[in-house]
This record gives sequence, structure tokens and C-alpha cells, in this order.
Amino acid sequence: YAIESGVNSYMVHSKDLSLDTYKRISLDRDLFKAVKDGQFELIFQPIVEADRNMVVGAEALIRWNHPEWGLLSPDEFLNLAEMNGLIADIDNWVLEDVCRSLDLWRRQKVPLVPISVNRSAKSFLQFDTLERMITPLRTYNIDPSLINFELTESSFVENSDRVAEVIAQLREKGFRIALDDFGTGFSSLFHLKEFQVQTLKIDREFIGSLLDESENMAITNAIIQMAQDLDLKVTAEGVEEPAALRWLQERGCDYIQGYIYSKPVSAENIRKIFAKRVLKPVYAGGQQVVEK
Ligand code: C2E
Ligand code: MG
Ligand code: MG
Ligand code: MG
Repeated sequence: YAIESGVNSYMVHSKDLSLDTYKRISLDRDLFKAVKDGQFELIFQPIVEADRNMVVGAEALIRWNHPEWGLLSPDEFLNLAEMNGLIADIDNWVLEDVCRSLDLWRRQKVPLVPISVNRSAKSFLQFDTLERMITPLRTYNIDPSLINFELTESSFVENSDRVAEVIAQLREKGFRIALDDFGTGFSSLFHLKEFQVQTLKIDREFIGSLLDESENMAITNAIIQMAQDLDLKVTAEGVEEPAALRWLQERGCDYIQGYIYSKPVSAENIRKIFAKRVLKPVYAGGQQVVEK
């Protein structure tokens, strides 16, 4: 197979194999080596308290530093990892790397805040999950309350009893749990009762064009209201516009994550943000808009 021998101009230009298909096949093949050689890296996006601009956390987001294709975003390879079974190894590497960073930041005397770690349903539901999730915390002596697992609700529909059980066990150990991409997919409000989560993350789908569509405002408003009534915290993800930020602040949304405060940044730069503790909202161009 020509495909086996790496990037090959014949295959790239082949009429019956598009670049996209070629790329997917080659990424699928390269993923095993990437896990073995540690070609991943994490970037971090601050999560900010809406009313005081205090940095109260950050989400760890994975990137694949591919030797040929360059820096790849999760959308380009996590589906493949779900299918070829590598997702659990990848998610476990992420947790370990986060613990390593927390340990480093602690030694650098940086005030620590919880780090949000995404877990796919596949890696969350493995039988040895609990043990594997706790091991890196023990290794680096990290308190579980510094880890906030983000679970995408729609991916748990089939196994919801088992998910509820794992969540309960993790909560008992002191981990935090958030429901990610809330409001999208085949989600059920029943899960809010069944899953002991602390935070709902409103999906970017609604927030990105929040003020342009009255449906988005109605849905976002309802989620914030419901979260308050259920005694849950709520994070709006993908906030870019000052007007949207103001709208969310007025409605009592607890936390904001989005380009208006910061894009995801390197471990080195998030450390500086943690040290400052406060972020001010900026326009995409970096201009200051709100004085607080
Ligand atoms: P997510 O967990 O919903 O993460 C939020 C995504 O929205 C991130 O994309 C982030 O960069 C992006 N985002 C945040 N604020 C803004 C904004 O204001 N504007 C715009 N345009 N985008 C914004 P990213 O890093 O590409 O991650 C995509 C998804 O990949 C994540 O969605 C998450 O589901 C998944 N993912 C990322 N890292 C991991 C991981 O380590 N393990 C697993 N299982 N999934 C991961
Ligand atoms: Mg997430
Ligand atoms: Mg999300
Ligand atoms: Mg999302």
C-alpha cells in the first residue's frame, strides 16, 4: 500500500482519494505513534467569574503536534481516537499532564484553581476508570477538588445508570463534574436529577450568536434560571461580544469562558494569568472595553 509509506504526493493528488480522506487515513495510522511518542500538548483557556472578572479555573484543551500536518485541533482526531480505541489512553495522558502542571504551579507558588478536563464517554466508562483517574492524582499529590471533569451529556444517553454511578463515586472522592455542551444533542433533563453534577456549560451553539437570535436568548435564559433553581453553577462558553457578556452578567450567569477574556493559551501563559488572578474583557482586537 502506498498509504503505508507516509505522505506521498501520488496519493495526495490521486483523483479517487481526496486530501481529506487521505489525511484521515494517515492520521488514523499515525495516532498510535503519537500516543507512544507523546506528540500531544495541552493549551488552557481561563474560566472567569462573570461579576468580578476573577479567574476561577481553566479548561485544558488538547492539540496534536503532528510532524507532517502541524498543530491539529481535537475535531480532527478525537473521532478517530474514539473509533480505534485510543481515546482512553489520550484522556488519561491529559489528566496526568494536568496533574504534572498543577504540581509545577504549586512549586512555583502560583495560586491553584480547578482545571477542567474533558472525558469522552468511552474513557469515562472503562471498568478500571476510577483507579486510573486517581493514580495520577496520587503520583503528584493533587487534591481531587482541583480536577473538574467535563462530560458531554449527549454521549451518555445509552449508559446513563452506569454514568450516574461513576459520577457519584468521583464526587465522593472530591472531584468536580460539569455537563459540557449542555442543550445540544439528545440530552434529557432527567440527567440533571440523576447525575450529581455541579456545573452546566451552555454550548457555544447558543452563545456564539446569542443576541442575534431570540431563540438563543430564550434558551440561554431558561438554562441559567433552571441552574439557579437547581442550585447548580452555570458557565457560558464561547462568549466573544461585549454585549453578550453584559447580557449574561445581568442574568446572573456565574462563569464565562470565551475569546472575550482569552483564547486558549500555553501552560506558561496560563500560569501568568493565574498569578494575576484577574482578567479584563477585551475585544477580539485586544482593546479594553469594560473597566471594573
Ligand atoms: P469543548 O469542551 O466544548 O471546548 C470548548 C471549545 O470551544 C474549544 O475548542 C475552545 O477553544 C472553543 N472556544 C472557547 N471559547 C471560544 C470563543 O469565544 N469562540 C470560539 N470560536 N471558540 C471558542 P477546541 O479546543 O477545538 O476543542 C473542541 C472540543 O474537543 C472540546 O469542546 C472537547 O469536546 C474536545 N476536547 C478537547 N480536549 C479534549 C480532551 O483532552 N479529551 C476529550 N475527550 N475531548 C477533548
Ligand atoms: Mg469542555
Ligand atoms: Mg463545551
Ligand atoms: Mg462545545
